Amino acid sequence: MLGFALRPQNLTLRDIKYFSFPGELLMRMLKMLVLPLLVSSLVTGISSLDSKASGKMGIRAVVYYMVTTLVAVFIGIVMVMIIRPGKGRRDRPVATSGSIEPVQAADAFLDLIRNMFPPNLVEACFKQYKTVYKKTITIRNEVRGCLLQESVEEVVPMSGSSGGVNALGLVVFSMCFGLVIGSMKQQGQALRDFFDGLNEAIMRLVAIIIWYAPVGILFLIAGKIVEMKDLAEMGGQLGMYTVTVIAGLLIHGLLVLPLLYFLVTRKNPFTFIGGLLQALITALGTSSSSATLPITFRCLEENNKVDKRVTRFVLPVGATINMDGTALYEAVAAIFIAQVNDMDLNFGQILTISITATAASIGAAGIPQAGLVTMVIVLTSVGLPTEDITLIIAVDWFLDRLRTTTNVLGDSLGAGIVEHLSRQELQRQDAETGNSVIEENEKPYQLICQENDSLKHHNSETPM
Ligand code: ASP
Repeated sequence: MLGFALRPQNLTLRDIKYFSFPGELLMRMLKMLVLPLLVSSLVTGISSLDSKASGKMGIRAVVYYMVTTLVAVFIGIVMVMIIRPGKGRRDRPVATSGSIEPVQAADAFLDLIRNMFPPNLVEACFKQYKTVYKKTITIRNEVRGCLLQESVEEVVPMSGSSGGVNALGLVVFSMCFGLVIGSMKQQGQALRDFFDGLNEAIMRLVAIIIWYAPVGILFLIAGKIVEMKDLAEMGGQLGMYTVTVIAGLLIHGLLVLPLLYFLVTRKNPFTFIGGLLQALITALGTSSSSATLPITFRCLEENNKVDKRVTRFVLPVGATINMDGTALYEAVAAIFIAQVNDMDLNFGQILTISITATAASIGAAGIPQAGLVTMVIVLTSVGLPTEDITLIIAVDWFLDRLRTTTNVLGDSLGAGIVEHLSRQELQRQDAETGNSVIEENEKPYQLICQENDSLKHHNSETPM
């Protein structure tokens, strides 16, 4: 309402920037916490489970991610085929200026794998690997009777980089690190304590920031509404496209995911979603699932009482690779662009779109409009013109917020489902240690230490 009330004032871009300042601060605070939170939660989460339990939990989480992402893509494809937002109209949406760098699908896949293994952990905190293309001219000598020289032009993939946290690399490292220190018994205890303490400290910072979140979100959203260009651009073909994406996201987020949650846990999914409201609104305000991660943690642990061993393991991975909303949107956008170009897609091409949209959603970072960049992979895989991405840029900021909210919802319901499925292992571990929460898991060790200490004390006293 604040945003709409200020629209008639015709604020300049400078004014809008100042106006959104409190929102920008929230975004910066959340991003500040993401890196230590991601690493510490994964390391403590995994090291607190035995390797069998973490293996099982990992498989459950990955199966959930794959199934829900594929279902999301399927819903997207069905919706865009039924509504046909790009077909049968003369008015082609107006392209917004903007340059999209082309990228080969194969190179994008290789980049994804390369990024899983960062050569330098410090660099991984702010940089990602990205293939860039360079034209080279090679002179080829051929002897056909006489010496022939031929110059061949070739586009060669070269190593390059793009800014932003390499979350995937850090996730892979932290998981392996957690597994290793978990198996180191006493020797690993100091590290386990360190990461556990770090995690706890970050969560306390989250508890402070959460008080500021409503103000920040207010200004983030109001600022965007004031900044938004004419609403008319959402009319026509783009309007239908927007409706298609929204309908798909609603079906997935409010029907399919809650139904899945209900079928698995037999609990009311909407009570669970009620506990997540603050995280969902933060996702709407920030359009970044990784910036929302601290709030998602808090909602799940404090409001929904999900076991910390599950949230610490499942949430960081989910925020990095599980993006149902993004996958759905990429499938809809690719087929929409095909419809606008009057291109009929055969079954094979639709299958290719499903697979590449899933992969593109895994590869997309949890930052604003990352999905728009990975769209290129989907388009090139079926030979659609990549420059047509500019057709949908106008509404992307809006759809981005909605798909990010769906992404966060998917991750959170996933944590609930994985917790339910892993309850036996968790209970077994509780029974072994005689505790129910991680913090208390350390007690037996502390007791041993204390006993040892008093023993030492005792021993040192005995000779005297
Ligand atoms: N903004 C989305 C997210 O953070 C990614 C996307 O652009 O689809 O989850």
